[in-house]
Amino acid sequence: MSKPLSPAVSSSPGPASGAAMAAQDEAWMRLAIELGEQAKGHTGDNPYVGCVIVVDGRVVGSGYTQPPYQPHAEASAFLDAERRGHEVRGGTLYTTVEPCCFFGRTPPCSQAIIERGLARVVVGIRDPHPRVNGQGIAQLRAAGIEVTEHVCREEVRSYLSGWLSGFGPDAG
Ligand SMILES: [Zn+2]
Repeated sequence: MSKPLSPAVSSSPGPASGAAMAAQDEAWMRLAIELGEQAKGHTGDNPYVGCVIVVDGRVVGSGYTQPPYQPHAEASAFLDAERRGHEVRGGTLYTTVEPCCFFGRTPPCSQAIIERGLARVVVGIRDPHPRVNGQGIAQLRAAGIEVTEHVCREEVRSYLSGWLSGFGPDAG
């Protein structure tokens, strides 16, 4: 008796579809926006940024911009992950605004992201500050980090409109 051949069944889920990944990115970015809104009015002339770090589908750290001379949103999220004893290496960092890349009142967030070994960074808008404006993203990419831009861009521009208005109508 010959054994019937089993029908070809594709049980492999394969890589996550682009659409599913985009929806996930938007969901995490909206959480980052909610965090950033909490910092509004407390950041001086800095943007009120929100940041979420995700590893294996769960948040390991989150934060928002602290008052001037204190940590930016990314650095706050790293501190939060440390406090909670979570590893961020290989994770994805969601930030409403491009990470800064120069020594201002605090060290550059781009270098902190590179040093901590994040695999991917998802950005809502570019920082129109003349000393950043795409250079933060360029530093991350040069270090081999995957960067996805413009996630929830209009929502980010909307919640940051007060800060962006100082840079002209096309900023962000
Ligand atoms: Zn920064």
